[in-house]
Amino acid sequence: MKSGCEGPEAGAGRVIELPILKNSAAPKNEIRESKAGRWRAASLVVLYLLMIAHIIQWRLTGQTVSPIEPSESMYTLQNGAINAGFIFFILAILATLIFGRFVCGWGCHIVALQDFCGWLMKKCGLTPRPFRSRLLVFVPLIVALYMFVWPTVSRFIIKPANESLFPQFTNHLITSDYWATFPTVAVAIPFLFICGFMTVYFLGSKGFCTYGCPYGGFFSLADQLAPGKIRVTDACNECGHCTAVCTSNVLVHAEVKQYGMVVDQGCMKCMDCISVCPNDALYFGFGKPSIAVKKTSTKNYPLTWPEELAAAAVFFLSFLAVWDVYQLVAMLMALGIAMVTTFLAVRTWKLISSSDLSFHRWNLKAGGVMKKAGWAFLSFAAVWIGLNVHSGYVRYHERAGAAAYERIRIPDELALARANPARWLSASDVASIKDGKEHFNAAMRTGLFVNKEALSKLAWIEYLSGDSEQAIRSLTKAAEHQDPQGKALSLYYRGAILNRLGRPEQALESLNEALIERPDLVSAREEKGEALWRLARRDEAVLTWTDAAKNSSLPIANNLLAGASFASGRDEEAAAYQDQADRATPNDPLFHWMLGLRLQNVGMLDLAEKHFERAIELNPEFKRARN
Ligand code: SF4
Ligand code: SF4
Ligand code: SF4
Repeated sequence: MKSGCEGPEAGAGRVIELPILKNSAAPKNEIRESKAGRWRAASLVVLYLLMIAHIIQWRLTGQTVSPIEPSESMYTLQNGAINAGFIFFILAILATLIFGRFVCGWGCHIVALQDFCGWLMKKCGLTPRPFRSRLLVFVPLIVALYMFVWPTVSRFIIKPANESLFPQFTNHLITSDYWATFPTVAVAIPFLFICGFMTVYFLGSKGFCTYGCPYGGFFSLADQLAPGKIRVTDACNECGHCTAVCTSNVLVHAEVKQYGMVVDQGCMKCMDCISVCPNDALYFGFGKPSIAVKKTSTKNYPLTWPEELAAAAVFFLSFLAVWDVYQLVAMLMALGIAMVTTFLAVRTWKLISSSDLSFHRWNLKAGGVMKKAGWAFLSFAAVWIGLNVHSGYVRYHERAGAAAYERIRIPDELALARANPARWLSASDVASIKDGKEHFNAAMRTGLFVNKEALSKLAWIEYLSGDSEQAIRSLTKAAEHQDPQGKALSLYYRGAILNRLGRPEQALESLNEALIERPDLVSAREEKGEALWRLARRDEAVLTWTDAAKNSSLPIANNLLAGASFASGRDEEAAAYQDQADRATPNDPLFHWMLGLRLQNVGMLDLAEKHFERAIELNPEFKRARN
């Protein structure tokens, strides 16, 4: 008995309606079930089991092989970190150069999701229909070049004189932080839903592979060069069964007739066509690569060239709008969202401009009259596109705020050396602070989620603008949403500001929290010592500064220790600390001034004076700062 959502096309043995069948000499038109499909499903299930086993092994032992994900190659090319993902990607491309895109068909977890979604749709009587665009098919390759070639090219073009063309390679094959480069589960679920399911529903059974996957950009290029191809014998009678089962939307019967092999770079060597061919006319074999064949397009494209250009513009704008918005949407997810947006925009346009339109089995418009399904489609498209526009507004302000933040030149240490750093700000800093505050506030006011990075930047801008209380509130909120690294920094900055405001108890609390997240954060230890000193817990302060000085050659802790030793009358010890501090202090008037202020804050006035004088000696302009 069929389940409620099973349709006439579900399962094997369905009847295809390719026109070519009318001329077929096949006794009947039933397509036999693909045996390769079962093997492929098993391979993809094993893949998921291996991924789960990998995570379990990491959780149990605390260390494991770094993620076997092609995206990890970016870190190799940018930072020189050789990892398992890079090695896998290189091997996969080399294998594709010989055998074609087997890795895509048999070893990708996203293709498994897409196939699963396609299978579910068929169970519900829906056949994924491919969305065809001549321009957007180049997106995967362009993104692949940006991700994997641009880092090296940009290094070559804007290479600083002292940097080599390639980064210095380091071994990152084993990691204890397996999840470091992955999104959180809360982000991964919508990512998999959009890229594995929505793209199939709207764009066809390999929607994400065709329009969104940068790895596919390289694999399809390599496939063109591969001698391994699906080829045909004389036994073919053009029945079309092969085309009917191909989930990569390849017109197999037409290609094998025209070229003697499948030349479409979307072919993932799933072997379904070979398995279902009633005449056993197809086989996998080696020979001429498809690049050596002069091709003419066998596909119909529903978009005119102006529509293609408009679709490309929508895609580009949508991608810019959502990529990294709220610091949540990763590049691959943004590509998936942008493709869905483009499809909806194109369909909406067609729905408005034509008198008849259907989508899957729904009649959206007939004889110029909009049907209920049409209104439902329009409503969904309006909400989706509206959310995109909203994201674009937020992202614009996030970007503009971040750009203003980058333009601020005052060094952190100097700004943090006194409660209100206004007098140290240049006119351009003041303008950037105003700009940054406006943009970040606009993004925060209208955003649907907290952007933790933007929030911590806004906090810094608020502090620089003299609004320390608001900065403290923003840092507290940012810390609530950040990972341990970011949280430690926010708590440290909050502690430092509280110290400057003369609230050492609260500062101590914040700095202790920061050090729980990151015990190696030396600057938090220096600030903690300062809070303890102000609370008259001087022995603990000295111990804390000693700890900080042990782990770093930074001069602040040694100067503070020198001041503490002077205060206790241990002049010889103080001189030794000072000597150590002087050796690490840069010959920079700003740095000396900052040291003077830090020492002044804790009442070590003589030592502070020494640094003020040195700053004036190096730059007489600093004399004005004393007045
Ligand atoms: S194109 Fe990308 S998503 Fe598709 S199967 Fe290949 S690697 Fe996976
Ligand atoms: S290759 Fe096989 S399945 Fe495809 S058209 Fe020819 S006979 Fe039919
Ligand atoms: S052409 Fe054949 S092997 Fe290639 S994807 Fe389609 S069904 Fe699979």
